[in-house]
Amino acid sequence: MKIKQIFENNKEWIQEKLKTDSDYFSNLSKGQDPDILYIGCSDSRVTAEELMGVAPGDVFVHRNIANMVPNTDLSAMSVIDYAVAHLKVKHVVVCGHYYCGGVKAAMQSQDLGILNPWLRNIRDVYRIHQAELDAIKDEEAQYKRLVELNVQEQCINVIKTAEVQKAVLDRGIAVHGWVFDIHSGKLIDLKIDFSEILKDVMKIYHLDS
Ligand SMILES: [Zn+2]
Repeated sequence: MKIKQIFENNKEWIQEKLKTDSDYFSNLSKGQDPDILYIGCSDSRVTAEELMGVAPGDVFVHRNIANMVPNTDLSAMSVIDYAVAHLKVKHVVVCGHYYCGGVKAAMQSQDLGILNPWLRNIRDVYRIHQAELDAIKDEEAQYKRLVELNVQEQCINVIKTAEVQKAVLDRGIAVHGWVFDIHSGKLIDLKIDFSEILKDVMKIYHLDS
């Protein structure tokens, strides 16, 4: 991929858009009103909009290595706060993916420098679910399950934030845990039962308003 090509592609894309709607860009510049906040992995194979078949303006996006929502990460926390409190999104999605390099690296014990503290958050997920994960003898199945459990734990981190707790009570905002299977292209809803998890989470993290 040559950088020059990108600018050529951009010119073509503009023409393409204007062909079907001459006001496309003037409408786009008026503002955004997305219904969904998508938190996904930075992996180049896992795009946000393309795999969901949505257009610019539809989804507010945050991506980082292994779709993490660490409680002290100012970037993730700011994105959630802005999307929920100001853009008033109706859904928050955490989307992981099988064959995630970040999750794989966390399962190994090599020293990865600055990535160590980031990946330690995934190792914490492993520790929380160690009994279940250690019982899985097939390495690939174990790796896939950790991807799913990581999504679940990051959803819980989303729910723990004050803004989301408020929005759940005030307007029934929904949190979803998904996994993208690179091998088939399928988007899988993990159908996490948040009502059970929420009871415990609220007990521990509930904020009085
Ligand atoms: Zn990944």
